[in-house]
Amino acid sequence: MSKKKSEKLINDQGLRVDGRKLDQLRPIKIEVGTLEKADGSAYIEWGKNKIMAAVYGPREVHPRHLALADRTLFRCRYHMAPFSTEERKNPAPSRREIELSKVIREAIEPSVFTELFPRTGIDVFIEVLQSDGGTRCAGITVASIALADAGIPLRDLVVACAAGKIDDQVVLDLNDIEDQKGQADLPVAISPRTGEVTLLQMDGNMSSEEYEKALYLAIEGCRQVHTMQRDTLKKKYAREHEVAVEAAGGEVESSESENQHENEGEATNE
Ligand code: ADP
Repeated sequence: MSKKKSEKLINDQGLRVDGRKLDQLRPIKIEVGTLEKADGSAYIEWGKNKIMAAVYGPREVHPRHLALADRTLFRCRYHMAPFSTEERKNPAPSRREIELSKVIREAIEPSVFTELFPRTGIDVFIEVLQSDGGTRCAGITVASIALADAGIPLRDLVVACAAGKIDDQVVLDLNDIEDQKGQADLPVAISPRTGEVTLLQMDGNMSSEEYEKALYLAIEGCRQVHTMQRDTLKKKYAREHEVAVEAAGGEVESSESENQHENEGEATNE
C-alpha cells in the first residue's frame, strides 16, 4: 500500500504533531503482573496506546490433537477491543488481526524454549484497549514481559519499535496520524541480546538510504524500550524479594518497591 503525503507533519521548528523530536519515542509506561488470574500478565501505555497482555501455560492443549510431540504449541491472539478506535470496531477478528496474531507469534516464539514443554500449550492474549498507531510493536513488547512474568524460560526478551518516513524525513515511533498521513512505516522487533531481528515489515516507500537510516533508528528505539522492559521486571523481583524477607521476619533493605516504570517523554531513558 502506498502512502500519500498531504499535510505538514513536521513544523518549522522541526517538531512533530505531538511535539516530539524526529528521533524521540512517545512516553512509555509498563506494569507487570497486572492480572491476578492469568499465569503472567503485563500492561503498557505507549503514547495513547493502551494494551494488556495475558499468558497462560504451559498447560494442556485444547483441542488435544493440536499438541506437538517435541515442543509446546505456542499461540498468540492479537485483538482490538470494539472501543479501542475512534469508531466502534467490529469485535469479530478481522483479517488484519488474524495476520497480526501470526506475525506477532513469529516475532516472539524464537525467544521461548518451546522444546522444554512437549505436548503442552502456551497462549498469549494481546488485547488493545486503546489504539494510536504502533500497536503491533507495543503488543510484542508487552507480551514478552507477560511471558517472563509467567516464569516461562526465555532465551531473551523480545522488543519492538517502528521507524518511518513523514514529510521526507526519517522519524522514530509513528503515531496514528503519522502512520496514516506519512510516507512509510517500518516496524522492527529484535532479540536485544543477540541482535536477531524477528520482525521486519514495511508499509510505504523509502529509498535504500532512508531504509537503512530507519532500520538503525528503529533498533535504537528497541534498545531504549528494552531498558524499560528490563527495569520493570527487575523492580518486580526486587519487590518480591522484599516481601519474602519481610515474611521471614528479616530487615528490608531496598526502598525500591514500585513495579512499574515510567518514561516521562524522554527519548533517552538510560
Ligand atoms: P499498528 O497498530 O501496528 O501500527 P496498523 O498500521 O495496521 O497497525 O494500524 C495503525 C493504526 O490504525 C492502529 O494502531 C489503529 O490506531 C488504527 N486502526 C487499525 N485498525 C483499525 C480499525 N479497524 N478501525 C479504526 N482504526 C484502526
